[in-house]
Amino acid sequence: MTYVVSPPAMPGVPVAGGGTFPVRRIYCVGRNYVEHAIEMGHTGREPPFFFLKPADSILPVAEGEVGEMAYPSLTKSLHHEVELVVAIGQGGRDIPVDQAMAHVWGYAVGLDMTRRDLQNEMKKQGRPWDIGKGFDQAAPIGALKPAAQCQVGADTRIALRVNGEPRQGSVICKLIWSLPEVISHLSAAWELQPGDLIYSGTPEGVAAVQAGDLLEAEVDGLPRLAVRIV
Ligand code: MN
Repeated sequence: MTYVVSPPAMPGVPVAGGGTFPVRRIYCVGRNYVEHAIEMGHTGREPPFFFLKPADSILPVAEGEVGEMAYPSLTKSLHHEVELVVAIGQGGRDIPVDQAMAHVWGYAVGLDMTRRDLQNEMKKQGRPWDIGKGFDQAAPIGALKPAAQCQVGADTRIALRVNGEPRQGSVICKLIWSLPEVISHLSAAWELQPGDLIYSGTPEGVAAVQAGDLLEAEVDGLPRLAVRIV
């Protein structure tokens, strides 16, 4: 095949212990923790829903490093959303809930960065969220850990600090839709493939960050994700 422009590089996430996970798609779950749904003006009882970010919007950060995210254009309200990210290693469609976890390759800590003012304006106008959610570097992600090497369970904690101050904190059992349910529902709408990432939703406490801020995102048992806004 003769490409008529240089083909773009395949986006990838570093794996703890070596190797790179190639990224095909980034699926995100909206409003998947009750307290976050409430802080966004909902009852917390609506079913979650999905949106996507471009694969090359990931900002991969290796373990022990501090990634640099440029404060994005067009916004005055850049929000953090710390999320557990699931990496799909085995694809499928209409995956039953009780088989869903066999499709998981590994886990990482991610940030679903959001231009909240633009997202809110699009919501108000009934327009797509892409400009609020799918901008360059909108999906920082830490090193992936293979599922066989970690235990992500009901009592696994998820947390975010900004400049050392706690901002978000919860436990995975507070997900409205569990990870197997998310995978099952996603696979009914799209055929999942190896290389897909799923940002599983954020707990309460989302807020704005400024240039210079240091974001430290943690999920028990996974490599920490550190990002500075520049
Ligand atoms: Mn989110």
